[in-house]
Amino acid sequence: MLTQLIYSLTGRLEFTISGGIRMNLVSFSIKTKGIHNFTRRLTTVFSRFGFSERRTRRALYSVIKSLEPYEAIPSFFIPAVVLNRHAKLLAEIAGHRAEVGIHGYVHNDYRTLSHKEQHKQTEKAISVFEEKHIPFQGFRNPYLGWTEESLEVFAQLGFVYDSNDAVIHEVIDLEQLSPLLLSGYEKSLELFQAIESNSYNLRPYFFGKLVRIPTSIPDDEMLFDRLRFSEKEIGRIWTCIMQRVYELGGIYVLNLHPERALLCKHPLNMLLSSTLDQSLPVWVTSLAGVAQWWIERSQFRLHFEPLASHRWQVEATCTSRSTLLARHVEVEDQPTAKWYGNDFQVLSQRFIINAPQCPCLGISLQTSQDVENFLFEQGYPFVRCSEQDAHNYAHFLDIPEGLGTTRKEQMQRKSALFKELEELETPLIYYGCWPKGYRAALSITGDIDSITIQDFFRRVVEV
Ligand SMILES: [Zn+2]
Repeated sequence: MLTQLIYSLTGRLEFTISGGIRMNLVSFSIKTKGIHNFTRRLTTVFSRFGFSERRTRRALYSVIKSLEPYEAIPSFFIPAVVLNRHAKLLAEIAGHRAEVGIHGYVHNDYRTLSHKEQHKQTEKAISVFEEKHIPFQGFRNPYLGWTEESLEVFAQLGFVYDSNDAVIHEVIDLEQLSPLLLSGYEKSLELFQAIESNSYNLRPYFFGKLVRIPTSIPDDEMLFDRLRFSEKEIGRIWTCIMQRVYELGGIYVLNLHPERALLCKHPLNMLLSSTLDQSLPVWVTSLAGVAQWWIERSQFRLHFEPLASHRWQVEATCTSRSTLLARHVEVEDQPTAKWYGNDFQVLSQRFIINAPQCPCLGISLQTSQDVENFLFEQGYPFVRCSEQDAHNYAHFLDIPEGLGTTRKEQMQRKSALFKELEELETPLIYYGCWPKGYRAALSITGDIDSITIQDFFRRVVEV
């Protein structure tokens, strides 16, 4: 038996009991939290949302204010039906105060929809955003429930990016959790289709023209509501994730639902200020900012012209935001700056270097095209060459079988290849992941699932 909650249009809440009703919100909650926790969740709902927009407005502005000193804006995602009811509030923040993206037409799991239905609902969501004049670039699925078909739909309908790939950071001591909490935690990981965190998985990547920006878990809901960590502990966990992301040179996309924004204000400020403790700068920005950067960066190229033995003229075709990195080479005529590990930054787009080999990769003639695409995207220059000429280059790759067909295979092979390139101890010049010498990136995002108590209960009937 499931507790069915119906919010009637007259504004009256009715609690009725019925069996076998398919409800996304209810089934998701019970599946991952158990009936006891679900009941507890109901109590919290009344404490976090009001019957008016007031509390959520305060929460949204609290996040916006926390980011102001970092000259950054948050990225919020909202289902179209919720936007439709609160268009004025969203119009007030969309643009220079916050980025607003689409979180479904209603708050449902796209994994339960056919390709055609996903297309239809996404189109419906777009038309609501257009009608309300809310600009958008990105899509995040409720429950991070995306499929290959979703990506095709997003690309077809002109989205610039999606932010659904859930990367798990192993920062929680699982042995300390009770069996009940542990099983809930594991169910969440399964539901979010979580993948391991490594330096490759923490970068954006292209799916056709769509930029895919990974999001990080555990999110605020897992830490605060399920595992019941204290504010201080959450601040410590987020800061610890930021430290790891910094070391890996990736992006930390925090998902902080506005309903917990006031409760997590202190941990959020701890996380943000931890970015200032690093020796290299961390780019705090919106997801739209990341997506635009990834598109800009994809056009960058490097060209090497031999001048004499062990001497090359390097020409970088890029914008002024690029981070041009070098290792184990000597730059003759232009300024450089210390960067991370063995790498230093070259502060010019045209310069002469000395090195025992050409500081780019050689790839065999039979290596498949997807390896080329991968190297372009990761900012590593290469030339096709025969095995006999391999010694002229920093490193030689011979991968005729390519980088895999299934998602799992591709993730594994790309992660391994990326690690191999990162660890090279030979002369190399390449493009860093982030602009202007930033070592890592941080985006504060939040899914506005509901704005009022009414929205919360409407979700049950809307899906
Ligand atoms: Zn959501």
